Amino acid sequence: MKKVILKGNYNYSGMVECLFCRILRGEIESKKVYEDENNIAILDINPRMHECQVLVIPKTHVKQFYELSDEENASLFKAVKEVAIMINKAYNPDFVSLFSRGMGVPHAHILVSPAWRNDIILTGFMLNRMNIFFNAGVSPQALDTIAEKLKNAKGP
Ligand SMILES: [Zn+2]
Repeated sequence: MKKVILKGNYNYSGMVECLFCRILRGEIESKKVYEDENNIAILDINPRMHECQVLVIPKTHVKQFYELSDEENASLFKAVKEVAIMINKAYNPDFVSLFSRGMGVPHAHILVSPAWRNDIILTGFMLNRMNIFFNAGVSPQALDTIAEKLKNAKGP
């Protein structure tokens, strides 16, 4: 099979646009809950496991987080830690889970989400394996409330 090398910012449908780069440029609205010099964190507007799924996104466009420089990676995971602390304070979960994937948007991002023992995440993984997707069913208005809840949880 011939290896195809793509140049530029392509998304999964092959269009020369990267959703997260467009969000970073302010061309697409997002529910931002955190920002620092190198990263932003936004709510996942189509959460599949929990109403509060935060995507921590480096401002540098790379497909995989490990393509970032060590300094950018350290900064990314410092942002992940900040968001995890916010989620822990806002939701008091048993765990704060991280996922790094990027099948949907090929721009590195870390998904950070609260998790409980025997919760929907476990079920969600099993359903995803069967291509049956769970949707937490969050309205746009609810996203504002969730974003506020998280922002209020920021800081000491
Ligand atoms: Zn991008």
